[in-house]
Amino acid sequence: MAIPGGSNVMTATDTPLQQRKIAWQTGRVQAIVAETSRVKSIILQPANWSGHWPGQHVDIRLTADDGYQAERSYSIASPPEEELLTLTVERVEDGEVSSYLLDELRVGDALEFRGPIGRHFIWSQTRGGPICLVAGGTGITPLMAMLRHRRRSLAPIPASLIYSARSLADVVYRDELDTMAHGDRDLRLVYALTREHPSDWNGHRGRVNEALLAESSFTREQNPTFFICGPTGFVEGISSMLVKLGFDPLAIRTERFGPTGA
Ligand SMILES: Cc1cc2nc3c(=O)[nH]c(=O)nc-3n(C[C@H](O)[C@H](O)[C@H](O)COP(=O)(O)OP(=O)(O)OC[C@H]3O[C@@H](n4cnc5c(N)ncnc54)[C@H](O)[C@@H]3O)c2cc1C
Repeated sequence: MAIPGGSNVMTATDTPLQQRKIAWQTGRVQAIVAETSRVKSIILQPANWSGHWPGQHVDIRLTADDGYQAERSYSIASPPEEELLTLTVERVEDGEVSSYLLDELRVGDALEFRGPIGRHFIWSQTRGGPICLVAGGTGITPLMAMLRHRRRSLAPIPASLIYSARSLADVVYRDELDTMAHGDRDLRLVYALTREHPSDWNGHRGRVNEALLAESSFTREQNPTFFICGPTGFVEGISSMLVKLGFDPLAIRTERFGPTGA
């Protein structure tokens, strides 16, 4: 069954932020943080920002000296409560834009971007829960904005994060996630390590499968909303498993980051 990735269940009180025309603007890079060997966070001070929903993204535009331009989308990892925007970028081999952002961009540089963009893959605490977030690799980025927002709002909304990564060293925001989950009995955090795991690892080994989804999300009766983000194949695979498990396709929101990977 097809998953309607563009479903929109905004209520009358949830005024869409981007009904206005979204103009390009320049942000100043305030900091660059190495998250893993392949991933960095870029912290931007926007010139003009009127807020975003957790889950939305921005478009970045690079312009070469000869006028050639390249545009790519990057999810916002910071919650709406923060003035600075955090983008978290993974290196894609021979990637035009990710290579520039990871290797050339410096603190103090100006970066052209526009946003916030996206209306279906959003969540805020006013929507309530439970929510089940499923991340593949850097697909954690928009889900992190949701979790950071949830923590700031102090609302005891039941949430579960199932995060698939190659190894523990590839888990982005690991310290923050572990701290967040520690002592929060409404948040369940599950890592699925697909390639390498410590010898004493007692978490999930291998890809996310139906059994893990069934035991780590919620029951059908609890009516969870799912947010799945990552490489295209990952997102489609998880969506199909959830439908097979009997969850409502209309409660499954998806964001696809790229053409490859799992
Ligand atoms: C809504 C949205 C949000 C996104 N958010 C993020 C984010 O928060 N962090 C992030 O790192 N990326 C994110 N992406 C992916 C990002 O937009 C780029 O596609 C990615 O950075 C690669 O761009 P590039 O110019 O470096 O590679 P390109 O020059 O476009 O591609 C180089 C090669 O890599 C392949 N490729 C392209 N994209 C990917 C990919 N994502 N995975 C694997 N192979 C790929 C291409 O087919 C090509 O062979 C998001 C994408 C979308 C649509």
